[in-house]
Amino acid sequence: MKLANFLSLLILLPAVACTRKDDRTSIKLDQVGYPIDAPKIALVSVPARTFQVKRAGDNAVVLEGELSARATDANSGDQVEVADFSSLRGSGTYYLEVPGAGRSWTFSIASDVFSRTYYLAMRAFYGQRCGTAVDLGPEFPGYTHAACHLEGKFHPSSGKQGRRDNVGGWHDAGDYGRYMVNSGIATGTLLWAWELFGSKLKDIKLNIPESGNGTPDILNEARWNLEWMLKMQDDDGGAWHKQTSERFSHFVMPEDDHLPSEVIGTGTPPYKGTCATADLAAVAAIAARVYQPFDRSFAATNLRAAQAAWAWAQRYPDATFVKNPPGISTGEYGDADCGDEQMWAAAELWRTTGEAQYNRYFIDHYAKYLPTLRALDTDTWRVVAPMGLWAYALAARPDADSHVLAEVRDAALAAARETVERTRRNPYHVSLAAEDFQWGSNGLAANYGMELLIANLLSPNGTFVETALDNLHYLLGRNTFSISWVTQVGEHPFRHPHHRPSGAGHHPWPGLLSGGPNAGRQDPVLKALPGDLPPAKVYSDEQGSYASNEVCINWQAMLVFLLAGIMG
Ligand SMILES: [Zn+2]
Repeated sequence: MKLANFLSLLILLPAVACTRKDDRTSIKLDQVGYPIDAPKIALVSVPARTFQVKRAGDNAVVLEGELSARATDANSGDQVEVADFSSLRGSGTYYLEVPGAGRSWTFSIASDVFSRTYYLAMRAFYGQRCGTAVDLGPEFPGYTHAACHLEGKFHPSSGKQGRRDNVGGWHDAGDYGRYMVNSGIATGTLLWAWELFGSKLKDIKLNIPESGNGTPDILNEARWNLEWMLKMQDDDGGAWHKQTSERFSHFVMPEDDHLPSEVIGTGTPPYKGTCATADLAAVAAIAARVYQPFDRSFAATNLRAAQAAWAWAQRYPDATFVKNPPGISTGEYGDADCGDEQMWAAAELWRTTGEAQYNRYFIDHYAKYLPTLRALDTDTWRVVAPMGLWAYALAARPDADSHVLAEVRDAALAAARETVERTRRNPYHVSLAAEDFQWGSNGLAANYGMELLIANLLSPNGTFVETALDNLHYLLGRNTFSISWVTQVGEHPFRHPHHRPSGAGHHPWPGLLSGGPNAGRQDPVLKALPGDLPPAKVYSDEQGSYASNEVCINWQAMLVFLLAGIMG
């Protein structure tokens, strides 16, 4: 190397260092962007006073402003200033430049700014399909897997023996198991997204094998899992808890997982589980409504399944699956109280059929669950009471009990107002309280968004929608890590999900939501982080961190619901 070249390299080095990607993490914003009419806020976590918004195409300054005073975020320990560029309303691609902090990731302002994110997040379910070959096509070449888990059998805990294939459904998470209770909340949430926001979704093509068949693609995709759920129902109406191998497979592609796929029950009579069965009743009751215009026969099948499941759960209200049977070590999804699942099923069956018995059951049981609206649980699969309560409030049936309806509506709206106030006080403008940074905290952020969007349907209020959007901004980059928690979305997305197809094949599969920060630290990666980290910081973008970086269909569905509700 000539000396002159060496010197010029030395001169270049600082500039190279200044533009290295890590520097951009001190400005936190939604890396996808902001709708034209919405508030637009970014956060700066180093001392600074002013900011500029520049157009990405030509670096022209389109807006200048002063940052707010610093505020301390107790959940992350960060001190942040606010850059408010809400007055910028021109469509385009931009970035922020902050003297003292550098430049931000790029973002867009557009009326349909989240449509691509919705497409990827919803299409991620297609990637999770079990029992069929999957190919994400020319957009994502090489993201494929062959048909998997085509054979199944009864595990002795199911009370039966022999072959039971039950091909289909979605792989639940980073593993290849299929679990009824988590399928319940996930599939129910997607069907609600259709029911409540269908006019925005009906023409969105997901490029899945069923596209163009006359049924909206979100319903085509949900049906893939719903049909597997129906196969998990026994002739007597009860549903088994899960279908998995006896232990988790290694990080291999699904077609290379040759562990037998087994239908697993409670181990003692009646072997099926009340929570799984009541979840099936709730979801099949929704399906009976939403598939009616597209496939009356399938809608009728779902209604029969829902009624049979309801009757079984009434007969066996306490057939709980609390612990894995001996020899099984896959996800437990244990739940000692199936009362909320039954209440949800009652609300949905009443909403679909108008039969008095379901209304009566709801009226007799709802009151004890009202507090769940004010304290949404990270374990949305275990505490489905909010779904039941919201279902009753959304039903708009003339035979609703007016006193009960008013109480449920008031509780839902009061909870949403509390969430708005808490979010306003939070420097990151996210609804998560300190205690919410548990397993699946990102799912809970999305679920707060769902709560707010439902409240907005019950009583339209712009602050509900704005606060729902705040939670989406958090997930897409306006967080302490300045990271987008959806794979391949935004300029700086997380990269190493705990997700077997991403670990064994192309990396990472797109559109997947990470579980997020988790102060519970249930995996070795999180345990090894410094002991004094504030809760919002307990996260690692590593495949091994299953407690903070796994994907899962329940929080994936809540992301889809949030996007569907927010989209213009
Ligand atoms: Zn499979």
